[in-house]
Amino acid sequence: MNKLEADIIIVAGGAAGLAAAVAAAQGGARVVVFEKGATTGGTGNMGMGPLGIESRHTRLKQFKPTRDEAFEVFMNYTHWRVDARLVRAYLNKSGDTIHWLESLGVEFVEPASYFSSAYPTWHLIKPATGKPGPMASATMMKILTDRAKEMGVRILLQTPVQKLIKEGQRLVGVLAEDQAGETMEARGRAVIIATGGFGDNPQMIKKHTGYDFGRDLYSFRIPGLEGDGIRMAWEAGAARTEMAMELIYGMPEVMTIGPELHEACRQPHLLVNLLGERFMNEAILPNTTFTGNAIALQKDRCAFLIFDDAIREAMEKDFDFLSVVFPFPRIGDFRESIGKAREQGYQHLFTADTIAELSSRTGIAPGGLRDTVAAYNRSCAQGYDDLFNKEHRYLRPVKTAPFYAARFFPSAYGSLGGIKINYKTEVLTKDWEAIPGLYAAGTDACSIYGDSYVFVLPGNTMGFALNTGRIAAENALEYIRTPKSDFS
Ligand SMILES: Cc1cc2nc3c(=O)[nH]c(=O)nc-3n(C[C@H](O)[C@H](O)[C@H](O)COP(=O)(O)OP(=O)(O)OC[C@H]3O[C@@H](n4cnc5c(N)ncnc54)[C@H](O)[C@@H]3O)c2cc1C
Repeated sequence: MNKLEADIIIVAGGAAGLAAAVAAAQGGARVVVFEKGATTGGTGNMGMGPLGIESRHTRLKQFKPTRDEAFEVFMNYTHWRVDARLVRAYLNKSGDTIHWLESLGVEFVEPASYFSSAYPTWHLIKPATGKPGPMASATMMKILTDRAKEMGVRILLQTPVQKLIKEGQRLVGVLAEDQAGETMEARGRAVIIATGGFGDNPQMIKKHTGYDFGRDLYSFRIPGLEGDGIRMAWEAGAARTEMAMELIYGMPEVMTIGPELHEACRQPHLLVNLLGERFMNEAILPNTTFTGNAIALQKDRCAFLIFDDAIREAMEKDFDFLSVVFPFPRIGDFRESIGKAREQGYQHLFTADTIAELSSRTGIAPGGLRDTVAAYNRSCAQGYDDLFNKEHRYLRPVKTAPFYAARFFPSAYGSLGGIKINYKTEVLTKDWEAIPGLYAAGTDACSIYGDSYVFVLPGNTMGFALNTGRIAAENALEYIRTPKSDFS
């Protein structure tokens, strides 16, 4: 069996694991990172940027919130059903973490918001390849990886950790499987778990959140996120937290039909369920968490965005909502795009010459859709939506054939929660005792949102991962510096 020794062992090289690795190496520790994938970065490669509160960027722009305000927003949003000390520790560190990342070579552009009622806390990363956008954060992951290696961190790729080694109450190492399929034993004085949750494990998703992947949930599945760290921590005596999906909404496999069409189907058109009934104010569609929540409550967790040819024409001139992620000002040629999608066999976009035909194609109850369209058109004519008070300027009647529908389901960036930690990221037992030498960071331990992702402060999950990674490293460094006699 291959054996190695380190001061701090980090289980995974994603956003939280790499932040922990760099911080631990800066603190003088010998660090080894075990990474299951063929590259580092994990989900951290996918996004646009982390949250930062009171960074120099937000302060220069006089952007709110302050740390105190962010904490209040966060705790009111979650109804204080989450660990306030952990939230506070994370938010307070987040501005400094932006500066720390800059000191390592990460560049940010002006902070952004995700939708109009959210705060501009999202620090968009300037990628090596050009403008900010999806996967810009891969540049940050590469920089963290390079800095870690320069400081002597050993990163073992395709070497998944399989078990934690505990002696008495204390964590002293891990067992992993190396690239040759051999068991490797690493001994250390502290272990930090950061395996990114269970977003690639449909069984765990079903068991712990109730969603049925591929039926009523079409979430991102980042390969390898199978709940390994959560399972290993539980086996080592960690307490469990509430577990959830980081819920949003979308059309299944939407990127196969292109981001332009995706944006066209996120405008504030008429939204109905399978009964043909409206169920939310469509003006809040850009808050993808709230929309995901509302869709998850409908029959078969499914909804349809309905619009007509006049709306199609308007969208070819201008979108109501412009997205930071895919900043198209309008759709080029909707009919051509929808035609291409259909040629590809895309199943979630529909066209029909009458509302009745649209019902039969989509499976929406015909009487329900007919009545809803009539009522909605009356609201548009009178300029007041007496059901949900949708803003007047988004009230456009549905009456000019052909008619279009896009089918939505809940989606998710990944999972949330599993391992109970405190504000020092120490892993706790059911008795709220810290397991000596064991820390957890990032998604595996992210149970600070209560029932809904706190999207009003965007950049939150990557922010939590990077900040708890740093916090874990700092506390692990302090722990390993404790005189040996105190270890008995
Ligand atoms: C499309 C998309 C866009 C996103 N955009 C943003 C954004 O702009 N801002 C934001 O805040 N959040 C964003 N997120 C979410 C954010 O990227 C994640 O919350 C964050 O990366 C979580 O960090 P983590 O370290 O916990 O997990 P990850 O970054 O996923 O890292 C987990 C790592 O663990 C490894 N691993 C798993 N099991 C083992 C094992 N047994 N042994 C060793 N290694 C193992 C995996 O291979 C992976 O590398 C986005 C997510 C997606 C899907």
